[in-house]
Amino acid sequence: ILKVEHLNKFYGDWQALHDINFSINKGEVVTLLGPSGSGKSTLIRTLNGLEPFKDGRIYFHGKQVDPNPKTWQDLRQKIGMVFQSYDLFPNLTVLDNILLAPVKVQGRDKAAVQKEALELLDRVELRNHADAYPRELSGGQKQRIAIVRALAMHPELMLFDEVTASLDPEMVRGVLKIIKELSDQDHMTMIIVTHEMNFAAKIADQVLFLENGRILEETPGQQFFDHPQTDRATEFLNSMD
Ligand code: ATP
Ligand code: MG
Repeated sequence: ILKVEHLNKFYGDWQALHDINFSINKGEVVTLLGPSGSGKSTLIRTLNGLEPFKDGRIYFHGKQVDPNPKTWQDLRQKIGMVFQSYDLFPNLTVLDNILLAPVKVQGRDKAAVQKEALELLDRVELRNHADAYPRELSGGQKQRIAIVRALAMHPELMLFDEVTASLDPEMVRGVLKIIKELSDQDHMTMIIVTHEMNFAAKIADQVLFLENGRILEETPGQQFFDHPQTDRATEFLNSMD
C-alpha cells in the first residue's frame, strides 16, 4: 500500500532523515522505534505530507506521490493520523469534531456520517459523550475521540505518533486496546510510533529501528524483541526495561 525509496529529509542544511527505504502491505502494522530525536515523528509527518521532502520517492498503491505538499490533499484523506496532543477543535462538540471533515471535506451525507460516528463512539465506549466539549473530557477520552475522528474519514492507512505519551497510565490501556482491535478485527494498516514496548511487541509485524535519522534495522516484530540484530537496538531495549 505504501513504499518509501531513498527518502532524504532536510531541515535547512541539516539532514534529519537519511536514505529511508521501507514498505508496508495492506493489513500490516509497522512500529517505529528509536531514541528521542532519531527522526520518528519527522518520518511520520513526511508520510502524511505535513513535511516536504527533498529527494526520494513515496508510492501509494504503486503510484508515485508528487512531493509538492499541495497534491497531498487528496492523499491525506486516505491517511489518518493521530498525534500525542489530541488536537480536537475546542469550540465543537465531540460529534461535530467527528463530522466536520467527512461532511465538509469529503462531502458525504451528514445523516449517514452521523450514524457511523455514533457507532464508532459506541465502540470506544464514549457514545454518551457525543454532545460533550473536548474540555469536559479526560486525556484518554480525548485521544479515543481523536482516533474515531480519523477513522470516520475511512482511511486506508493510520499513522500514530506516541498517542499515549501524555496520558496517565490507567488511560493508556484503553487507547492501546482500541489500536490493537483495529489491527485484529479491522486489519487496519498502521504505522505506529510508541514507547510502550509490551504493546509494540504484541502488535508489530515489522519493527523499524531508527537512530540519527537512519533505519538501523528492519526486523519482524517478535524477532526484534527476542533477538535484535544490532548492539544499538539491544541497548535501546535494555534501557526501556
Ligand atoms: P521523540 O522520541 O523525542 O519524539 P523523534 O524520533 O520523533 O523524537 P523528531 O521529532 O523526528 O524525533 O526529530 C528528529 C530531529 O529533527 C531532531 O534532532 C529534531 O531536533 C529535528 N527537528 C524536528 N523537527 C524540526 C524542525 N521543524 N526544524 C528543525 N529541526 C527539527
Ligand atoms: Mg517524536
